[in-house]
Amino acid sequence: MTGYRAIWASISPILSMAATRAASDEELADLLKPLLGTIGSLIAGYQNLHSRRKAEQALYRAQAKLRQMATQDALTGIANRSSLIDQLSDVFERSKRQGDNFSLLFLDIDHFKSINDSYGHQVGDKALQHAVAVIQEHMRPSDIFGRYGGEEFVLGLLDCDAENARHCAERFRAAMERCSIATDSRDAVINMTISVGVATLDDETTDIDAFINNADQAVYAAKRAGRNCVRSFSRDAEALEAEPA
Ligand code: GH3
Ligand code: MG
Ligand code: MG
Repeated sequence: MTGYRAIWASISPILSMAATRAASDEELADLLKPLLGTIGSLIAGYQNLHSRRKAEQALYRAQAKLRQMATQDALTGIANRSSLIDQLSDVFERSKRQGDNFSLLFLDIDHFKSINDSYGHQVGDKALQHAVAVIQEHMRPSDIFGRYGGEEFVLGLLDCDAENARHCAERFRAAMERCSIATDSRDAVINMTISVGVATLDDETTDIDAFINNADQAVYAAKRAGRNCVRSFSRDAEALEAEPA
């Protein structure tokens, strides 16, 4: 018999004795006393279980939040730098092992500092969220996308060779150029452009840091070429600076 049933089984004869006045108040009190302790410990047990469940739920929520904070960029909701590099490393190792194509795009917003300087940091934040939305709209679900630093983003393109990566980069560049951002002041819109560096996995690329560095060098070449353009990494300095055919 469960605790509650046992108590009820003990209480009901006492209640009928009380109803029929078969026992004095003192006798009834003596009969009830031992049951009070049992009821007390049952209630305490229930309360302990209830508060333990609540504490466990709070712990699960806190752990989930912590996991999210450790991997997600708070402003844009995409992968943060360490989560991005973890994901890219996995694909890098697998692509090396299996000989798969793998390309990286390094996207850097042009003259972003001047957006902050002209419109304020909050509008700058909105512009970053806008840039992420534009990229997300044009990327494939299998692409790995994350915020590398302030106004710099990296996109890992799986099963993508150099030529296709270049086309993708051009698509992102053109999409960003087309979309303008409305501001609070009536007529002002912000036109934002990006420079994109492309790197494709080859035998000489030994680790993920070197791979990202190649894409970074290509983005610097795009900046030198005047911004709002795409450059592909090459170990040949002249080819790195050259305009795509
Ligand atoms: P370039 O065309 O050479 O890339 O110039 P840039 O102005 O984009 O680059 P620079 O590195 O000079 O400036 C980057 C700016 O990005 C400076 C920094 O204050 C801003 N920034 C970085 N993170 C954030 C952020 O989370 N929010 C806002 N609003 N601004 C940010
Ligand atoms: Mg930058
Ligand atoms: Mg920039």
